[in-house]
Amino acid sequence: MPEGPEIRKAADAVEKALKDREVLDISFAFETLEGYEDILTGATVTGVDTKGKAMLTRFDNGYTIYSHNQLYGKWMIRNAYNYPKTNRQLRLAIHNEKKSALLYSASDIEVLRDEEVPDHPFIRKVGPDILSETVTKEQLRERYTSRRFFRRRWTTLLLDQSFVAGIGNYLRSEILFLAGIHPSLRPTDSTPQQIEKAAEATITLMEQSYRYKGITVDPDIAERMKAEGKARNQYRHWVFRRSFQPCHICRTKIEKIEAGNRRLYYCPTCQAL
Ligand SMILES: [Zn+2]
Repeated sequence: MPEGPEIRKAADAVEKALKDREVLDISFAFETLEGYEDILTGATVTGVDTKGKAMLTRFDNGYTIYSHNQLYGKWMIRNAYNYPKTNRQLRLAIHNEKKSALLYSASDIEVLRDEEVPDHPFIRKVGPDILSETVTKEQLRERYTSRRFFRRRWTTLLLDQSFVAGIGNYLRSEILFLAGIHPSLRPTDSTPQQIEKAAEATITLMEQSYRYKGITVDPDIAERMKAEGKARNQYRHWVFRRSFQPCHICRTKIEKIEAGNRRLYYCPTCQAL
């Protein structure tokens, strides 16, 4: 399942294809949305924002398309009207003079007036999106120590999209590792330094993963291990999917556990209780 950095990458591709260009033609597969085809034809796309796993395609005439890919949705960008061969169902097609942005398989698509966007049930609930908004370490630290979240376990919190948008399973393990937090703890059990590090790691890991195609480990470590002929899954992350392999910092063997029905990886030494 794609996490924030992968969604932002997809949004970048859609934005690059559509931004500042007039829509020549747009079609929705859902009958309830067909009425918007005439409204959006001739409008210009002003940008594509993300809110965690949701995407907001914005138009200059006061409308926004909200789409959420859930598990199966996938955007494909092609030269205008070049449809790919696929068994997927085309749900939304936006064409301009040069490009077509095609959304397949997604079932969660809506057209909203700009002023309705903040009240959308998902948008209203979802936490800050580090890759689409300016979010500071201080803001996150405040959030992590707020009454609303303070007494819940880190492992549950980090997957809760109303806490921080876009964190999924690999980022959860990686953030806890860099903050030196044992997976059984809650913010209230953590030291101020651990909370500070968790806030910092949330921002840096998201940005790094976005920039380095999903690599969350220190880029120097990744380069060195790659040069040594190691496989990508051995060097891509600090701990995620590295059970029984040595910790990059202390050489202790990484352990795998279940937390909230999802696998979680951690270093028993760097993240000691
Ligand atoms: Zn370690």
